[in-house]
Amino acid sequence: MHTDRKPATRAVHVTAPPLTDSRPLSVPIYQASTFAFDDPDALATALGAPDQGFTYSRYRNPTTQALEETLADLEGGVAAAATASGMGAISSILLGELGSGDHVIAQNCLYGGTYAILRDLSARFGVEVTYVPGDDPAEVAAARRPNTRLLYLETIANPVTKVGDLPAFLAAGKAAGLVTVVDNTFASPILCRPIEHGADVVLHSATKYLGGHSDVTGGVLVFAEEERYRRAWQHTMELGAAADPFAAWLIIRGIQTLPLRMERHCANAGLLADRLAGHPAVASVRWPGRADHPDHEVASRFLAGYGGMLAFDLRGGREAGRRFAKGVRLAKLAASLGGVETTLMHPASTSHRQFDAEALRAAGIGEGTIRVSVGIEDADDLWADLAQALDGN
Ligand SMILES: *Cc1c(COP(=O)(O)O)cnc(C)c1O
Repeated sequence: MHTDRKPATRAVHVTAPPLTDSRPLSVPIYQASTFAFDDPDALATALGAPDQGFTYSRYRNPTTQALEETLADLEGGVAAAATASGMGAISSILLGELGSGDHVIAQNCLYGGTYAILRDLSARFGVEVTYVPGDDPAEVAAARRPNTRLLYLETIANPVTKVGDLPAFLAAGKAAGLVTVVDNTFASPILCRPIEHGADVVLHSATKYLGGHSDVTGGVLVFAEEERYRRAWQHTMELGAAADPFAAWLIIRGIQTLPLRMERHCANAGLLADRLAGHPAVASVRWPGRADHPDHEVASRFLAGYGGMLAFDLRGGREAGRRFAKGVRLAKLAASLGGVETTLMHPASTSHRQFDAEALRAAGIGEGTIRVSVGIEDADDLWADLAQALDGN
């Protein structure tokens, strides 16, 4: 203790005890924006690279790095960059990889925020985008232009659980010399690891299954090559998109039970999909694990499970959808997905309320379509809730 110093000084300089014979079993939250050095040369070196020590948490942080290393490992990549949200990951990679006048090929069933940024990049920076149906890998060669740079895909796409032939699309992207980016949010690395199929970059909204508890917003980019990671690290740092250590810590905590949760999400979704399909108020059910799903065969080739997302169409259309959404008690009407609790959306009365029937159809949604993020509750309790809401219809 420096008892010669005054209280105002001693109060400020609080230090953590050094650890000697033991260390924490869990990853501590390094809730620090800044790190102190003894040597100016070490500080200078650390400022310039993603792997030379900790200086400032927008560049790098030990808690965040624990998340990045875990995700890189689970996805089979060489490195990862954790971001403040899924959109932080998407914006960082698109702004980092694309220049004005570049052309992007993207599947036409995409997360809404991804559409929005592609539209902005087109309007403001002349980035050209061609949307392809995602049914046939030959679409990639057909859409390719001399300025095409990037192919953007989703493993399982919203809201109708579309599954394209990811390995074949990635091979087509590679053959066309494109950077391939896959949003793997719905599958998680437990069901699919796109880098094993040739993807250059995999990204997640960690807000969904990785975090898994509807209590954190985050994202992550995982890279197949060191070189691309280093460039992206520079961009995430400049954009200020880095994850906060506390958010990273919550996501690490979520990931520890991800394999168990995914197993239950998939099992519950399968059970509910089958029961929904047998209910007279339901016209059709879409879950990739069902033989009547248009992509069932393709999905079976590369997914280790069919996920916790399902959609179904009520015969009664928009009004029936509204009544159903109001009628559920255990399942919650909520915009997000991938949490331990079951949530659902009726797009025609919420996210897509301005769409008429034809515009909805073009987006692959019916007036009575309900999208469900199936949680890990007891499956019979879930079915009882959905059944009472259906019977009220
Ligand atoms: C939610 C979501 C995003 C965006 O993630 P945020 O964490 O909300 O920024 C991107 N892609 C998919 C598939 C999503 O579901």
